Amino acid sequence: MSNRWKCWRPPARRRGRDRWPRDDETRSDPVTDRPWTDPTEQGDDRSVALLEIRLFGDPVLRERAAEVTEFDAWLARFGDDLLETMREAHGVGLAAPQVGVLKRVFAYEVPEDEEEGRARQFGVLVNPSIVQREGEQTGLEGCLSFPGMYYDCTRAQSVVVDARDVAGKHLRVEGDGVLARVFQHEIDHLDGVLFIDHLSRADRKRAMREWRERDLSLEAPGAQPHVHRSDIAQSS
Ligand SMILES: [Zn+2]
Repeated sequence: MSNRWKCWRPPARRRGRDRWPRDDETRSDPVTDRPWTDPTEQGDDRSVALLEIRLFGDPVLRERAAEVTEFDAWLARFGDDLLETMREAHGVGLAAPQVGVLKRVFAYEVPEDEEEGRARQFGVLVNPSIVQREGEQTGLEGCLSFPGMYYDCTRAQSVVVDARDVAGKHLRVEGDGVLARVFQHEIDHLDGVLFIDHLSRADRKRAMREWRERDLSLEAPGAQPHVHRSDIAQSS
């Protein structure tokens, strides 16, 4: 399945005309705070697999993901695939449950922002937990599991995340602004929490109606509906 919608991406922060810079446009940017090594920069010719992104209504998105206990070759490969799937979908974050894997892993990548003096940052975090939160920000948020939907969402302005990398090494990563929003959104996914759960009651109703209408218009006759009635009831 091809899912080309960007993950939550505040439209006001779009660069260029209507998109984040493509990966190859930012490849030579200085990279800081990189707990994860990009295989494409190591001359590793292993091909990555693009994974199917699950849409709202898939029950896996409401499950709690399990702690990772084995930091093995499978995990390293899965991390690569998650990051590549996120990039292909032009997202800035993608959590394992969104590709049907109930493990506490997510990938992220935020582009360079000269105005904010921020370098491109990306990585794969395993068993992440937020150990510190500060401030508050409200801004548009979306999700690769809700293609095309953006709603105002209030989050902490900055967070500190404790995690492991795919090799099991301990990491402490700080995120501010956009990156903090990504971390909070993706860690929520690991607990079966979706961004619509953070919306005001009125916005959540609006979002559910928008999703139902969008879903119906996209469904081919006889296709399995994406939205389960129980999930709509639970979220409205
Ligand atoms: Zn999401």
